[in-house]
Amino acid sequence: MQGREDQRSGTAGGAGPIRTCVGCRGRDSDSRLLRIVHDPETATLSPDPRRRAVGRGAWVHREQRCIATALDRKAFIRSLRVAGNVSQDAITEVLEALRPGHDTTRRPFGPAGGAQEEERTRHDEHTVKLQR
Ligand SMILES: [Zn+2]
Repeated sequence: MQGREDQRSGTAGGAGPIRTCVGCRGRDSDSRLLRIVHDPETATLSPDPRRRAVGRGAWVHREQRCIATALDRKAFIRSLRVAGNVSQDAITEVLEALRPGHDTTRRPFGPAGGAQEEERTRHDEHTVKLQR
């Protein structure tokens, strides 16, 4: 069920540099990819939709498959050269927001809440298991 492929037609012609997705290793315009950054102070990985964070960034397609694969391989951690424990909860949240059936008009990194809260929690537990 891939109802929402972000304008897959016409890969060329997009402005902006080409980045490599840490999930599928595919190269794409950075406008199609989500930037992930590491905050050493809080030891968390988080999306950087405005791309204002300094330092290294890891890039991933805004697609369930790519984000799930990257989480599974710890590709963000490796790409960002993070040592030690780091929380990937914020990335998991993006993944959850991309699940089919969710309100796709909502931004994946926007505020969560409402009636879907209970379901999100259940999915979170499932994702954590997959990360091991
Ligand atoms: Zn990808």
